[in-house]
Amino acid sequence: MPDVTAVGELLIDFTPAGFGADGAMLFSRQPGGAPANVLAMIAKLGAKAAFIGKVGEDSFGHFLKETLTGAGIDASGVVFDKEIHTTLAFVHLDSKGDRSFSFCRNPGADLMLAKDDVNQELVDGCGMLHFGSLSFTSEPCRSTVLELVSNARHAGKVISFDPNYRKLLWKSEEEAKAQIENALPLADILKVSEEEMTLLTKETDVLTGAAELSKKGPSIVLVTMGAEGAAYSCLNGSGTVKPFPVKTIDTTGAGDAFMGAMLHQLKGKTKEELANITESELRNAIEFANKAGALATTKHGGIPAMPTLEEINALGQ
Ligand code: ADP
Repeated sequence: MPDVTAVGELLIDFTPAGFGADGAMLFSRQPGGAPANVLAMIAKLGAKAAFIGKVGEDSFGHFLKETLTGAGIDASGVVFDKEIHTTLAFVHLDSKGDRSFSFCRNPGADLMLAKDDVNQELVDGCGMLHFGSLSFTSEPCRSTVLELVSNARHAGKVISFDPNYRKLLWKSEEEAKAQIENALPLADILKVSEEEMTLLTKETDVLTGAAELSKKGPSIVLVTMGAEGAAYSCLNGSGTVKPFPVKTIDTTGAGDAFMGAMLHQLKGKTKEELANITESELRNAIEFANKAGALATTKHGGIPAMPTLEEINALGQ
């Protein structure tokens, strides 16, 4: 049975890949979706991970399911939509190297996840359930995931939430904020970026913001700060944990590597143990996760960039 089951989006990222001989722009087909990246990190560290989500009955959908299996993730919870295509995202780079996205998700198969599609065994048997807010941008996925997470919480599962706010996928910032706030009380462990923390609390100071978020339910709040490391708030205290300097080439997947490593460190603990975690234990876990996040920036892509346990342990020695 899985240590961690994640539910959410599984999609193709088409990333820029130079130009063909005829001058046409080329794109590289990459597996994407934050919950799957988080699971890939967990599986790479040797724990059992399972995914629940929907793709299209097309070549992209089959490629994604095979990719999960290849990454050591239980993909038996992947279902195929016969009518709606696999969700696609195209990444564009402007002349300065800044990224922008165009999404083909209006709808995309990930949003079609219905209650009947859920492989409940993967929820009932898991130690932790992880989810994000991309599931809440529209129906039927929104109700499906809210019900799934609420039921798992009532059944005593440890719940982990990484909103992973993507402005383009929401009708408005207000709607995103309302949907994320609605899910906050369900989570034991919450991970946000600084931008998400400010969206939710209006705070720019990480310790004040993390403390604000703690009041909304989660017993462990983590704020990732890119090259600045991470901050936390828990019952026994709050603080920041320093980053590990590395030669960064691509930050894709850093937050997911961080979250996967964090869940790997916290798996097996009860809700009560998480609520009463000592600061030193939490700081050690965050240090491990900071290393995983840093290492993920030294390689391209999401799933392929997840570091091994040996690489994580060797960093900073
Ligand atoms: P996200 O915004 O997706 O949550 P971040 O970019 O903040 O993710 O990265 C997650 C973690 O990875 C950070 O908290 C940090 O520990 C590590 N990290 C990210 N970028 C760097 C970097 N350039 N140098 C060192 N560590 C990094």
